[in-house]
Amino acid sequence: MEQELKTIYEVQLIETKIMESEKKRVLAPKKIEDMNKELEELRARAEKEKAVIDELEKERRKKEKELDSEKDKIKKIEAKLYDVKTNKEYQALLKEIEMAKEANDRTEEDIIVLMERVEDLKNEYATLAEHLKKRENEIKKEKEIIEKDLLSIDKTLAELRKEKENLLSIVSDEIKRIYATLIEKRGGLAVVNVKNGVCLGCYMNIPPQLFIEVTKNNSLITCPSCNRIFYYREDN
Ligand SMILES: [Zn+2]
Repeated sequence: MEQELKTIYEVQLIETKIMESEKKRVLAPKKIEDMNKELEELRARAEKEKAVIDELEKERRKKEKELDSEKDKIKKIEAKLYDVKTNKEYQALLKEIEMAKEANDRTEEDIIVLMERVEDLKNEYATLAEHLKKRENEIKKEKEIIEKDLLSIDKTLAELRKEKENLLSIVSDEIKRIYATLIEKRGGLAVVNVKNGVCLGCYMNIPPQLFIEVTKNNSLITCPSCNRIFYYREDN
């Protein structure tokens, strides 16, 4: 019986590896998809930020042009001051110049605000671009690892299944049946160790007398709480 218990325990170890590999294979496309999505989102964000920067710079150039043409206009009005005939006309021109200058001051302020905003956005953009580049490199490497893993996973699974069959062939039909039922009903974990009187399948305490029996490994004992098969090993 001890050999049989040891064998079914080994079957369990292989079963766990099989499940991990299968999970990996199922999750791999999703993982790749998530990483692609992450990059897409980062790229879209970078593009959007770039578009805002371009827009604000366009706006700034427009305002600078406006300012230049307004300054020219003021010069022309100032030139007219020498030609005026009446004080009323003179005052009117002065008023016009004053108003134009005030408008220009506001435009200049707007230009400064735009420049500051663009500078902030450019810094943000640089940080984002750097992050994007870093993630592109990381994801490229991660994808390569996943793809490499996937290439060998089918071979690994076939080997593990063969090994499992070989081991099961030397186990009694009764234990095989109990094992299969437990695998199905207990989330793929049918054989467990007991540590300090605690079942490592359900983490419930088992009676001390039962624990002593379990450590002998010479009979089929199952957990009173979760029904899993006990196989005692000192190391874990
Ligand atoms: Zn248990």
